Amino acid sequence: MAQIRIENVRKDFGSFNAVKSSTFTIEDGEFFMLLGPSGCGKTTTLRMMAGLELPTSGEIYIDGEEVGQKPASQRDIAFVFQMFALYPHMNVGRNMSYPLLSQGMPKAEAKRRVLEVAKILGIEGMLDRPVGGLSGGDRQRVALGRAIVREPKAFFMDEPLGALDAEFREHMAEELRALHDRMGATTVYVTHDQLEAMQMGDKIVVMNHGVVEQFGAPQQIYDWPATKFVAQFIGSPPMNFLDFNGIVGKGATEINLGGVRLAIPQQLDGASGDLTLGIRPEHVRPSDAAPYRGEIVASEYLGTTQIVTFDTAHGRIKARIPSHHKVVVGDTTGLELDARTLTVFDASTGRALSSIANREVLHHG
Ligand code: ATP
Repeated sequence: MAQIRIENVRKDFGSFNAVKSSTFTIEDGEFFMLLGPSGCGKTTTLRMMAGLELPTSGEIYIDGEEVGQKPASQRDIAFVFQMFALYPHMNVGRNMSYPLLSQGMPKAEAKRRVLEVAKILGIEGMLDRPVGGLSGGDRQRVALGRAIVREPKAFFMDEPLGALDAEFREHMAEELRALHDRMGATTVYVTHDQLEAMQMGDKIVVMNHGVVEQFGAPQQIYDWPATKFVAQFIGSPPMNFLDFNGIVGKGATEINLGGVRLAIPQQLDGASGDLTLGIRPEHVRPSDAAPYRGEIVASEYLGTTQIVTFDTAHGRIKARIPSHHKVVVGDTTGLELDARTLTVFDASTGRALSSIANREVLHHG
């Protein structure tokens, strides 16, 4: 059980700044995702929390104790690497008891703990089997078991499902999450897959070029992205952007998009110049009466829904609408933009113009 806090943590490799000043808190028992594209600094951040890499500056607290300069062995955490890294010459039971015996735990006690954990993972029947013949899923369970037997304060996982095919990956993701819910141990999990992060995480940190772009619950991040980067990285298709030039007074509650006035769900901080209106595809709907117009350029059938692409005066946008809604490529139609869901960004900084912290999550559908 552990709360982990990162305060102004920075990491340089020589002259390269891999992680810029990062601050966030992982609460005790959370399943916490570090999400971002390749090279954004998520593995480096995880390795600093685990003690496998020392921060250049800043502090790392585990349960209130500053551990930033302490090695991994003094942090009481378990790092689950790629899940297939087992000792090939040992059987399942030995693979799991090895970390305990090497710490000097008496054999009987280690055996008892291994059996207990093996039961949680459903592998108690295979403790005598060699690991060589196991299926991928069972190997993964053994690797997890080896981490769990030590009863660490927290688990750290770096793309543990990366090497698995899609179907098996989904199955193991569900299993990992269920295991976490049973055990309640703080888990920090690195992924570049936004769907995996949304499905599994209690909280997500989205990183880009070494910067924490946003930190929050999946639905908060989806509904109210703090930056254009987050808006595009999360969601498929990503959030639509309509670029416009405008003046928004401080405290404004509406914008003028090419002569069409649109209400905004919260007061804006105020800005002028190049702005971007963000709206998710499921919040755009063709409606003859709507004053904002778009030409239908494509429709993609996805079963119950379709993705329809429109060209507007401010750029190309996509709508996710029911498949039974008939659309004709080449037609021009009105577009209803759900006013409760709009986000306005400053186009030059990419940051949302209103505080996103206190917004209510939306009810989709
Ligand atoms: P990936 O998913 O590709 O591993 P990541 O987001 O986990 O990406 P990191 O592995 O944290 O990214 O790397 C962040 C940046 O720091 C990258 O540009 C990487 O090349 C660089 N980097 C990481 N480790 C080192 C190192 N030991 N020496 C020099 N540069 C490094």
